[in-house]
Amino acid sequence: MVSLSSFHALSTELRSAGVTLVAVSKMKPVEDILALYDAGQRDFGENYVQELVDKESKLPNDIHWHFIGHLQSNKVKYIAPFVHLVQGVDSLKLLQEINKQGKKVGRRIGCLLQVHIAREETKFGFDAAELEQVVQKLVEDAGVYDHVEVQGLMGMASLSEDEKIVRSEFRQLKDLFDRYTSIDVPGMRFRTLSMGMSGDYRLAIAEGSNLVRIGSLLFGAR
Ligand SMILES: *Cc1c(COP(=O)(O)O)cnc(C)c1O
Repeated sequence: MVSLSSFHALSTELRSAGVTLVAVSKMKPVEDILALYDAGQRDFGENYVQELVDKESKLPNDIHWHFIGHLQSNKVKYIAPFVHLVQGVDSLKLLQEINKQGKKVGRRIGCLLQVHIAREETKFGFDAAELEQVVQKLVEDAGVYDHVEVQGLMGMASLSEDEKIVRSEFRQLKDLFDRYTSIDVPGMRFRTLSMGMSGDYRLAIAEGSNLVRIGSLLFGAR
């Protein structure tokens, strides 16, 4: 069940903090998405390619779709025509494929590089050293990837009750983000730091997030 009262309270809170809300609608029906759309929400996040393609075809075309799951290179082509921001870019190969598919459809596709900050091994993303290599490569190759724009970083903290752990992981990601905000080359300009979900978004904002990805708080448990 969509909670419109949670949505209004959250929008007000985030607006005053200057933070973008991405409503994570994975596994939720189009009716629920429309209810938030009618209340004014335009940014939605999905984790699965087939589900996203299906929903996109049924919903208004001024929605900004964020792909927040693990994206396989061979599936980029299905979302390239409409995706607004690919939040989980975790390899150079994937970025190259997004660039290739962006070129085919004549779009420059926004991307965030995913950083692995959590303790859980199951989560995807670059570590700090790998991130440094990728950023350097993008600076060296500035102009080569002319159908993507790397706009910042995304990360997920550990699923932990321990606030100290979560906070320090967010802080680590913010420090990495700050390292690269002064770079301004064709194809890469950092301005978006995507961190924070239903359970930890306030900590994330306190540590410098400017985009949160929130599902269960708005749509109920999955
Ligand atoms: C599912 C998901 C979310 C939303 O999680 P909630 O705890 O329901 O807010 C955020 N980010 C990513 C990457 C997700 O996969």
